Amino acid sequence: MPDSTVADIQRCVAGLRIADLDTTLGEAGARIEVRAAEEAIEVAVHLGFPAAGIRADIETAVTAAVRAAVPSVPTVRASVDWAIVARSPQGGLTPLPGVRNIIAVASGKGGVGKSTTSANLALALAAEGARVGLLDADVYGPSQPTMLGISGRQPESRDGKTFEPLVAHGIETMSVGFLVDDSQAMIWRGPMVTQVVTQLTFQTAWHDLDYLVVDLPPGTGDTQLTLSQKVPVAGVVIVTTPQQVAMQVARRGLKMFEKVDVPLLGIVENMSSFVCPKCSHEEPLFGAGGGADLAAECGIPLLGAIPLDRTIRAQTDAGRPPVVADPQGVLAQRYRQVARRTAAALARRPADQKHKFPRIVVERAR
Ligand code: ADP
Repeated sequence: MPDSTVADIQRCVAGLRIADLDTTLGEAGARIEVRAAEEAIEVAVHLGFPAAGIRADIETAVTAAVRAAVPSVPTVRASVDWAIVARSPQGGLTPLPGVRNIIAVASGKGGVGKSTTSANLALALAAEGARVGLLDADVYGPSQPTMLGISGRQPESRDGKTFEPLVAHGIETMSVGFLVDDSQAMIWRGPMVTQVVTQLTFQTAWHDLDYLVVDLPPGTGDTQLTLSQKVPVAGVVIVTTPQQVAMQVARRGLKMFEKVDVPLLGIVENMSSFVCPKCSHEEPLFGAGGGADLAAECGIPLLGAIPLDRTIRAQTDAGRPPVVADPQGVLAQRYRQVARRTAAALARRPADQKHKFPRIVVERAR
């Protein structure tokens, strides 16, 4: 096949718009390989983020586009795979052993659904094909043991220095909630919070994770500031509800992370609309478009909007969040889209040179 044809095919595939990600494959950083086999063209799309939920759609779109571009070739085969590499954390901090990327989840204030979003984001990243951990750093009210259905269990230490993370629904997890009871956790003050969170982060034996999602304590005060300077975060996701006041607080949070150079990956608008349990009608109780406006104002993506739906509360508080309780359901699909967009936003950040070895997923061409 002439080089010019290869380049044309690459250009055509790179220009394909993936509605789910709201970008073209080229903008999402896809590397496109074209091979001419006997009577066929094979196109391999290599992504820097997991995308199991849209892999088949991308393959279909690529096949159709290449068929239309080169009608003389009878067979086109497309395949999609991904390799997740470490992205540079802020301030040149040393990456955490066993973890390629830390994604922090923050909120300006409590009660907006930060922990619920963190749990579902972590599980959704795993469903998309990544190795994932979830660190519950919300020491004021550690809820991940309950949300993952493993409260009452205790982590063990093999070497007397580090804790082995517990495993729930296929992800590794660590929480101060495993180590102290809730009433103790509530009275901790700033410097102690920082110390405990950094210890939990660095003294857990994480195993070869692509992403460690960190559910930060709510707020944007000194504690969050100190944590953001000690923990090597690759990017932060801000959770907010659509009300005016929550938005203002979220805006302050965004500014804080900008000040300490933690890259902002985007905003998740939680409780964005109310889903009626009787008729499934969706109503924007607190006004529509707030998250999108805030994202546009700050020049960062809106990663998704999650409705106020009592199924989310019931399933998450019962230890089986929607992503695992009903993997084919609409809510799981929304969280998985948030996960893909978050990972895609992170994949656009510069790679970290200290981490040399990505985990490569090899998929068979169809
Ligand atoms: P935060 O971590 O911000 O304090 P949580 O994640 O603990 O907030 O959520 C507070 C409560 O709201 C929990 O009972 C949770 O189940 C519920 N909740 C969170 N998000 C939603 C949602 N989108 N729909 C319904 N309930 C939700």
